[in-house]
Amino acid sequence: MVRPGVIHADLNNELAPYNLFFPPDPGSSLMCTVGGMVANNASGLRAVKYGTTEQYVLGLEVVTPQGDIIITGGMKSRAIKNVSGLNLTKLMVGSEGVLGVITKIRLRCFPKPRARGIAMAVFDRLDDAPATVLDVYQAGILPSGIEILDGSAIKAVNEFKPHIKLPDAEAILLFEVDGNPPSVEFEGDVIKEMAGKRARLVEWSTDPKRMAQLWEGRSVTAAAASRVRPDGSRIFAGEDISVPISRVADVLRAVRALGQKYGIQVVNYGHIGDGNVHTAPVINPEDPAEVEKVLQLVDEIHLLAIEMEGTTTGEHGVGAVRRRYAPLEHGIAHEYMLKTKQVFDPKGIMNPGKLI
Ligand SMILES: Cc1cc2nc3c(=O)[nH]c(=O)nc-3n(C[C@H](O)[C@H](O)[C@H](O)COP(=O)(O)OP(=O)(O)OC[C@H]3O[C@@H](n4cnc5c(N)ncnc54)[C@H](O)[C@@H]3O)c2cc1C
Repeated sequence: MVRPGVIHADLNNELAPYNLFFPPDPGSSLMCTVGGMVANNASGLRAVKYGTTEQYVLGLEVVTPQGDIIITGGMKSRAIKNVSGLNLTKLMVGSEGVLGVITKIRLRCFPKPRARGIAMAVFDRLDDAPATVLDVYQAGILPSGIEILDGSAIKAVNEFKPHIKLPDAEAILLFEVDGNPPSVEFEGDVIKEMAGKRARLVEWSTDPKRMAQLWEGRSVTAAAASRVRPDGSRIFAGEDISVPISRVADVLRAVRALGQKYGIQVVNYGHIGDGNVHTAPVINPEDPAEVEKVLQLVDEIHLLAIEMEGTTTGEHGVGAVRRRYAPLEHGIAHEYMLKTKQVFDPKGIMNPGKLI
């Protein structure tokens, strides 16, 4: 049982002595709360294998806007499996505070894997990166994370931290594998073989120091994106689209073209293993003309994601910025969402103007 104000990283530090962990791992781990993660259905680098927060929430205590305290997932249940009743837990997870205030969270934790390995693969053709991801899956391997940095992100990282010296390329993939030592080695061998079919360079390591070096470029990408120009700030809009893996290369090319159309730098990276790419526009927020242009760019990125059989947000949530796309994304189901909101919150006092 966890209170919603617990910081994600603190929870995992508490669980570590028991060899347990709570797998969803947002980049905001050091500052985000478990309540915020549940309300946003947050995930992160390892959603490929471990999924999103919703898979770990067994039950909730929620204070409704009408003043009731409801327990989802069974009043007294401590069961891991439970299919009784309508699943109000799932309804609450990702509801972004529009249905009630979460006051307690019953979470499922997993045993910590004993070993890790990291592979880096460097590609001269963008299309080869998603194709390799699909090859790895088809070879029966499910890495714990698969990340992409395209040319824009590689350049941003090398300018921000020159000592990292990422190879100049159209795309870099980073695979993380976890599990027991023999299975990690086996999976690493398969990834090397699959990536080797298309990549210019593949490196695999289970040495902690080398793994940290291989991963360093990815770990600083978000910070690097904000520094591609001295007066620039990264905009958190149009930054979280998610599309089928087979369309990632197309969507990245289209976003590059849109960036050129509006004269705005966009840095592309993210969780290619589940098709969730962060396309981060960078502007001077003090310049009204740039703000006007970026709003148009962001709108085109969101519409592009929907057009490419994806969504405007894979993990960061809807909030106020993406709410306007709800009817387009959900059709008549959106009307049922509004009716559900009405049942919980007839006076519309919970987070008005957000999510739906
Ligand atoms: C640098 C950075 C990196 C990020 N990386 C990731 C990432 O990798 N993956 C990812 O999924 N997200 C990411 N995010 C988005 C965000 O941090 C996460 O979704 C996080 O889980 C939100 O938690 P929070 O405590 O910051 O929530 P807040 O931002 O405070 O709240 C988020 C929403 O949840 C609602 N809420 C919060 N607590 C409750 C509660 N107790 N009951 C009901 N509603 C509540 C709020 O009203 C709000 O609508 C990132 C954000 C930043 C700034």
